Amino acid sequence: MTYSTNNISTEHIEKKRIAIIGAGLAGSLLALKLSQQGYAVDVYERRSDPRALSAHAGRSINLGLSKRGMQALASVGLLEEVLKTAVVMRGRVIHFPDGSTKYQAYGKNDNEVLHSIDRNELNNLLLDHSEQYKDLKLHFNHKLVSAEKTKRLLEFSNEGRVVTVTPAWVIGADGAFSTMRKEMQYGERADYQQEYLEWGYKELTLEAGSDGQSVIELSALHVWPRNHCLFVSHPNLDGSHTLTLFLPFKGADSFQCLHTPADVRVLIDKYFPDLTPLLPSLLEQWDRHPVGALITTRTNQWSFEDWAVLVGDACHAVYPFFGQGMNSAFEDCYMLIALLAERPTDLATVFKTYEEKRRLHTDALAELSKQNFTELRQKVQSPWFHARKKLDVLLNKLFPSAWLPLYTMIAHTTIPYAEARERARRQDNVINFGSAAIFCLIGISVVMLLS
Ligand SMILES: Cc1cc2nc3c(=O)[nH]c(=O)nc-3n(C[C@H](O)[C@H](O)[C@H](O)COP(=O)(O)OP(=O)(O)OC[C@H]3O[C@@H](n4cnc5c(N)ncnc54)[C@H](O)[C@@H]3O)c2cc1C
Repeated sequence: MTYSTNNISTEHIEKKRIAIIGAGLAGSLLALKLSQQGYAVDVYERRSDPRALSAHAGRSINLGLSKRGMQALASVGLLEEVLKTAVVMRGRVIHFPDGSTKYQAYGKNDNEVLHSIDRNELNNLLLDHSEQYKDLKLHFNHKLVSAEKTKRLLEFSNEGRVVTVTPAWVIGADGAFSTMRKEMQYGERADYQQEYLEWGYKELTLEAGSDGQSVIELSALHVWPRNHCLFVSHPNLDGSHTLTLFLPFKGADSFQCLHTPADVRVLIDKYFPDLTPLLPSLLEQWDRHPVGALITTRTNQWSFEDWAVLVGDACHAVYPFFGQGMNSAFEDCYMLIALLAERPTDLATVFKTYEEKRRLHTDALAELSKQNFTELRQKVQSPWFHARKKLDVLLNKLFPSAWLPLYTMIAHTTIPYAEARERARRQDNVINFGSAAIFCLIGISVVMLLS
C-alpha cells in the first residue's frame, strides 16, 4: 500500500502534509499544536495504538512535570486538564539508611512545585485531542525503516507491508534511538556521541495501604540515596508510588548478581530495610518488570535543508536525574512552533535557527543531568549539602530576582539551561569567596586576640 501526496496542489503549500515520526510525548504534542494551526499532519508510530490497551495492561510510569513542560502544555490548552490528573510534589523526602528522613522543599512557595503525571495518560490525552482535527491522521504499526533525502521519501514497515510516503517535510520525534536521525545524517558531516550509564533501572510499584492511603508522604518525591544504588519514587493519584531502582549492571550487588528471588530480597534488605515491609509483592513484581538502560546523546546536525528536523530524545537524550527529558522535549516543540510562526515559508532557516538557539542548552542539560546523578545518590546525604541548600533558599527569599538556586532555574523557570548553569556558577563563586573571606576574618581576629 502506498500513500501519495500527488493530489495536493502546490499552490496550497500550507496544506501539504507534514510527517511526524513517533507518537510519543513530543510527537503527539507537536501533532496537536500543528493541527491547531491548520497544518495537515500524518503521525507514524511503530507501536500499536496505546489507547487500545486496557488501563491495567501497562504499568503506571510517572514523570515530573515542571515549568518548561507546563508552558508547552498551556500553549495547546491542556495544562489545566493535565494538572487535574497530577499529584503535586512540594519537595523531596530523603530516606537515610538508619530509617530517618529529611524533607527538602522544591521552592520557596506553592508556585515552585513539581507535578507527578502518568506518562501513558498524558500521551493518550494528547493523541485524543489531536485526533479531533480532520486533517490529522494517526498511523499506528508504522515503523520508519528508511528515509531517502534526495527523493524526499520515507519508507515504513507496516505489518509486513512496505509503505512509502513523500511528505512536504518531516519531524523526527522517534526517541533516543531515532531512525530518522540516522537516516537524515547519513552521508552528512554530522557528529553523534552516545554514552551509556553503567547503571540500569527497574520500575516497581509501592502500593497504597489497605485503607487506600499512601504509606509514605504523598505530596513529595522520595529518594533513598545510597552510594551504591538509589531508589526514587513518584506519587500516583490512587495513593500508590512508582518506584525506580537505579543499580549498577555489573560488579558486586549489581543487576548481574541477582539470579534468584533470595538474591533480590537480600539486596533490598541490605540497602533499603525500611522499604522491605512496604513491598510485599517485590519478588512477584521483580520478575515482571524489565531492566532499562539509560543513555546520554549529543548530536549535530538536527536538520536537513528544509525537509527534516529532530525534536526531543531524538536529538538529545539525557539521564533522568534532573527530571527534564520530557520537559526539554516539550520546550523544543514550543520553540520550533514559535520560530515556524515567524517564518512559515522559510523552513531551512527555521530549522537552523532552532538548532542554533537550542543545542547549546540541551548539551548543558546533559551535563547537569549527569551531575545530578551524584547529587541524588551521594550529596543529599551530607549535612553540608543541606546547609548550602538552606542558604540558597534564604538568599533567594532575601533577593528574589538577584539570587536563584540552580534547581529553581531549571525546574521553575524557562531560563535557558546553559544560562542557568552559568548563573549558578557565579553564585557558587560568590558563596566560596564569601566563605573564604569569613574564614580569613575569623583567623585574623583570633591571631589579633592571641597576640
Ligand atoms: C526512568 C526514567 C525516568 C524519567 N523521568 C522523567 C521526569 O521525571 N521528567 C521528565 O521530564 N522526563 C523524564 N524522563 C525522560 C522522558 O521519558 C523522555 O525524555 C521523553 O519521553 C522523550 O520524549 P520523546 O517524544 O522525545 O521520545 P519518546 O517518548 O521515546 O517517544 C518516541 C516515540 O517514537 C516511536 N518510535 C521509535 N522509533 C520509531 C520508528 N522507527 N518509527 C516510528 N515510530 C518510532 C516510539 O515507539 C515512541 O512512541 C524519564 C526517562 C526515564 C527512562
